[in-house]
Amino acid sequence: MDLICASYRRKRQSKRLTLLLCVFAIVLLSWLTWKAFCPSVFAVANTEPSGVVRAEALITPGPDHIDTRATSEPNLVLTWKITKGDTLSAIFKNYEISQSVLYQILSADEQILALDVISPGHLLTFTLDQKTRDLLSMELLIHPGKRVIYKRADNGSFDYDEITIPGEWEKELLNADIVGSFYASAQGSGLTEQETGNITALFRDHIQFARDIRSGDRFEVIRSRQFIDGKFTGQSCIEGVRIFRGKRIYSAFLWDDGNYYDLEGKNLARAFRRYPMAGYHKVTSHFSPARLHPITRRIEPHNGVDFAMPSGTPILSTGDGVVTRVCNHPFAGKYVELQHGSHFATRYLHLSRTLVKRGQTVKRGERIALSGNTGRSTGPHLHFELHVNGSPVNPLTAKIPMGSAVPGEKLVDFNRRVGELVAMMEEPSRKIALHREDSDSSGRVISKSL
Ligand SMILES: [Zn+2]
Repeated sequence: MDLICASYRRKRQSKRLTLLLCVFAIVLLSWLTWKAFCPSVFAVANTEPSGVVRAEALITPGPDHIDTRATSEPNLVLTWKITKGDTLSAIFKNYEISQSVLYQILSADEQILALDVISPGHLLTFTLDQKTRDLLSMELLIHPGKRVIYKRADNGSFDYDEITIPGEWEKELLNADIVGSFYASAQGSGLTEQETGNITALFRDHIQFARDIRSGDRFEVIRSRQFIDGKFTGQSCIEGVRIFRGKRIYSAFLWDDGNYYDLEGKNLARAFRRYPMAGYHKVTSHFSPARLHPITRRIEPHNGVDFAMPSGTPILSTGDGVVTRVCNHPFAGKYVELQHGSHFATRYLHLSRTLVKRGQTVKRGERIALSGNTGRSTGPHLHFELHVNGSPVNPLTAKIPMGSAVPGEKLVDFNRRVGELVAMMEEPSRKIALHREDSDSSGRVISKSL
């Protein structure tokens, strides 16, 4: 019986050994085949440069990458996670993609200028032809709700495609009794620096935060945050604010037009200027989703409006705001970007001189630059853009904050929205009152709720 068992065991072991050898041979063969077809992947992984640029090469071969005889050869996909100090030029160099290709991509990016603000955490995904190593496309993932894809077009240059996913916006309440400054209390409640800045900007004509707000005053903020597949994208929006200062209540509620209004429907923002300069200047090129570019001769969007003007003409901010960019782009030239509250932004391109610094606050009508002819330009002019909620709109026809009230026919809808937001603000307050004694030593009470 033992002998039969021993012989059976030997046979089984020998079968197992053969099977293991076969599996090992298949794995080795596959790996060698793959390595033979993807030598550059290994080169990238091994030539990670020292210093400021750090590569995180994630290799994503196509689904049929092993059987290359049966299917067309897969493309090479490389992903780079941006870290501090990275430059596009260094990243392209690291992947052995020529600087002329980088310039072609920057040319496509001129209309959106998304690559000028790459920052740590953004992902760049390169798709290269396996054989020729030609760049077929590059994707910039800004956050899960926004990415830009630069794709090689038939004529060899690149087109861009901006993809935004609306996702789910979830509302939450942040409130606190003010202890010390409004700024510190707002941050303590979970509001970001930018959100706090947006709130103080909203009430700038009504409250001097440093002087008027005292300990014991309180605020309530309804914030909505964007989620995609349950993951926070980093995008948020202030829907409503109430500030209780002594016996007065200051309020601001966001309406569909991107403006904030008080409880009676009066606009909180100061009126915008339509034009970023004094006097009349001829429009030489209008805002257009498809325009024949005067230099590249390609049909591409023109996300702004061009005004002919001699170099050196003073350029004025169209609204109160904060300087978010002062850049020099090979095609957009010297340019300035301003953020006006949380929904409006403006850009001024091809300048000869910029007169502001990043982070600086500017007033409506303030001189921010002198016009010029820098970058890719056919002559002295200003290219002016207006963005609403991150998308360019026609600055000559868009609805801009006019300092007016919610139109009469919309008041019923506006009041309904305000009623919903106020109910959200008030309902958790009652719950807070019950556990107020449990608040921390600073007396700060924080509530977050959907
Ligand atoms: Zn233009």
